[in-house]
Amino acid sequence: MHGTRILEEADRLMTVCNSCRYCEGLCAVFPAMEMRRSFSDGDLNYLANLCHSCGACYTDCQFSPPHEFNVNVPKTLAIARADSYAAYTWPRVFSGVFARNGLVVSIVLALSVAAFIFGFAAFNDRQVLFGVHTGPGSFYKLMPHNAMAALFGAAFLYAIVALAMGVRAFWRDIGEPIGTLAGPNSLWQAMKDAGQLRYLDGGGVGCVNEDERPNDRRKIYHHFTFYGFILCFASTTVATLYHYLIAREAPYPWWDLPVVLGTLGGIGLLIGPAGLLAERWKRDPDLVDQTRTGMDVAFIVMLFLTSLTGMALLLWRDTAAMGPLLALHLGVVFSLFITMPYGKFVHGIYRYVALVRYARERQMMGHGT
Ligand code: SF4
Ligand code: SF4
Repeated sequence: MHGTRILEEADRLMTVCNSCRYCEGLCAVFPAMEMRRSFSDGDLNYLANLCHSCGACYTDCQFSPPHEFNVNVPKTLAIARADSYAAYTWPRVFSGVFARNGLVVSIVLALSVAAFIFGFAAFNDRQVLFGVHTGPGSFYKLMPHNAMAALFGAAFLYAIVALAMGVRAFWRDIGEPIGTLAGPNSLWQAMKDAGQLRYLDGGGVGCVNEDERPNDRRKIYHHFTFYGFILCFASTTVATLYHYLIAREAPYPWWDLPVVLGTLGGIGLLIGPAGLLAERWKRDPDLVDQTRTGMDVAFIVMLFLTSLTGMALLLWRDTAAMGPLLALHLGVVFSLFITMPYGKFVHGIYRYVALVRYARERQMMGHGT
């Protein structure tokens, strides 16, 4: 007996697939499945989080609908995966709200924070908000650096704590001692697999779309998004080090490292999320969980808006538009941080943790990488 109907269905499918094994070369799900004869709830959640929903095992399957076995692994694992995100959410009360209204919640929060900063600055001194400010420290005329660091540091810390609690719940659910997460070989192997999106290629042919012609576009847009995010994070880290270690204040000239990293990352975060949204609309509805659109779309849209407002700020920071643009950008970034543990961002974290376990299991079984 399993905790939910979808886990019952996932168990049924994995039992069928374990007898068939036709798809064992497609991704990590099938080799991980073959290491088991029975499946606990935690095992099925682990397999669900290894799956990239590429669709290859659906189009290749001789038992997919209309066959009476009704085997649809991508959709079943997609629903189980989304259920697992909700089950691991901390605090739990936010999961349902966000799954249904993720995009609305994110945008309302972003606009509220932007309006608060905008209103606060306008109330204090309209000249500060609509004046032209250039050179180091000009951003902090709108909001003092310490206030900015405290607000965004707290939001970031909240996101880290909520994500860590989620990982702890996932790791417990799959029945592993938390210490195994620290195995350097598994961590490194999982990092390489995640960095290459190794299993997001349907066994080499790409992801399946509505027309059943596989291609690599989903993987490419994922790469733009992932590396864009890493570059933007690196830009913020370098800027923080500049501020505290060598007392250099933002904004920096266009050739300086934080701006170069942020611009490259920003371009990635415009192309990647826009491409992922476009690909999402082309996907075969039989392959995806259409009930969780709010959660899926919210994070992608917020990444895109973070980049769009950041690039607009870079372009017009020496004009009177700087104040309103900075307020808007800060509102979007704040909302992105706060909603990160409740949106699609978590899929990257849980998939990485699942890959760590997969690498560890492969090593224990004496398999290569
Ligand atoms: S998805 Fe279909 S073809 Fe692939 S292993 Fe399962 S039953 Fe076999
Ligand atoms: S949809 Fe793709 S990643 Fe998921 S189980 Fe099937 S082949 Fe593997």
